Amino acid sequence: MRSTVRELNWSGTVTYTAEQVLRPSSLDEAAAIVARSPRVHGLGTRHSFNDVADTPGVLLDLTGIPTDLVVDADRRTATLGAGTRYGDVAPDLDRAGFALHNTGSLPHISVGGAVATGTHGSGTTLGSLSTAVRSFRVLGPDGSERTIDRSDPDFDGAVLHLGLLGIVTRVTLDVEPAYRMRQDVYGPIPWDTFTEHVAEVHAAGTSVCSYTVFGDEISEVLLKSRVPDGDDDVPVPGELLGAPRSPGAPGDASRTARDGSVGPWWDRLPHFPIGSVPSHGSEVQSEHFVPLRHAGAALDALRGLADRIQPHLHVCELRTMAADGFWLSPAQGEDVLCIAFTWKKHPAEVAAVLPDLESRLAPFGGRPHWGKMSSVDAAAIAGLYPRVADFRDLVARADPDRTFASAFGERVLGT
Ligand SMILES: Cc1cc2nc3c(=O)[nH]c(=O)nc-3n(C[C@H](O)[C@H](O)[C@H](O)COP(=O)(O)OP(=O)(O)OC[C@H]3O[C@@H](n4cnc5c(N)ncnc54)[C@H](O)[C@@H]3O)c2cc1C
Repeated sequence: MRSTVRELNWSGTVTYTAEQVLRPSSLDEAAAIVARSPRVHGLGTRHSFNDVADTPGVLLDLTGIPTDLVVDADRRTATLGAGTRYGDVAPDLDRAGFALHNTGSLPHISVGGAVATGTHGSGTTLGSLSTAVRSFRVLGPDGSERTIDRSDPDFDGAVLHLGLLGIVTRVTLDVEPAYRMRQDVYGPIPWDTFTEHVAEVHAAGTSVCSYTVFGDEISEVLLKSRVPDGDDDVPVPGELLGAPRSPGAPGDASRTARDGSVGPWWDRLPHFPIGSVPSHGSEVQSEHFVPLRHAGAALDALRGLADRIQPHLHVCELRTMAADGFWLSPAQGEDVLCIAFTWKKHPAEVAAVLPDLESRLAPFGGRPHWGKMSSVDAAAIAGLYPRVADFRDLVARADPDRTFASAFGERVLGT
């Protein structure tokens, strides 16, 4: 259970400074660790590309605690352990007749870690994964547990918490009746045609993802569409802005099916199956969010940096996310375009490009993903998030002795 070696995040680019990483196998054990630790911080599946999860004290990894899935069909909720990976629980939820409203591209991440950072999939009418949270249980500095739900006046500040409010043990999520989906691939679309119609393209399916390397085109658009029950032949567009539908590819060990075949929601919403090495495997990521109404202008501004971006880029993925009211949400107040860069594993070179990339997005109020690389500091964040001072106050009330504090929180939020 005890680890004293320095441990790394998933990409191997962040070395945790924590003196120990502990992986309890029960909630009681987790509570006892919190109660006796002067500094402690929650750890999910380590997929963040920055030090958001780090602490100088104990990193508490909850992935060893059983999922204990409880589905309440009447209330339409699913309650599960925060360390659960989405991909491990999704088929069980489906078998029980229910589904989540969306997933990230990766089913390997923990529910607790995803919710804490505002992780999202795509869909102009779909909020981040945090928006599915109906309530959660959290261990405070003395190891005692309390429940925070939507009736709590601080709920909108507490859901997306970056690990700064305590250790989340169990999460209750909204669920809906299980549904089926298909994925279809279109492209290429000329750059100018796409940038004039970003919102339209991204409204063409339930969940739409577009890919570019900032050349003359959008190489591919991936349309994920819900299929009504009893109908396997749901019509999808034959073309998108003049770009034909391609045959796509059946599912394999590395990708979910993109050939128009119909499958369960959990096998079409993520890009990668749970058994795969996700994405490019050797990479770092950054991501920024701009109001959807500025999508074309923001993309044109970034394309001006193509010469500096391209040598380090695998691919840029464009998605959308519906507005919400969470204080630290990148979609707070407005629907956004999500501009996600999957970079080659060149962290120093990427860090050198990011200030210029971010200054190009600054006129559009570009907000960085909390779990990815960024150079944005507390002063800039305060200008981007109107409720940061309220969040600091919430942290001060929940954690007066700074048990859950992190260097990331101090540097980026001033907590
Ligand atoms: C290949 C790849 C693909 C990705 N795709 C997407 C994507 O599609 N969409 C997207 O938005 N992001 C994406 N990400 C980013 C990723 O979803 C986020 O970084 C997410 O936070 C990772 O979850 P995790 O379980 O690894 O959390 P960690 O990185 O381990 O932790 C993240 C934060 O959660 C906190 N935390 C975790 N568990 C708890 C707990 N139980 N109690 C309190 N705090 C806790 C930590 O303290 C930390 O602040 C991707 C990352 C990778 C590596």
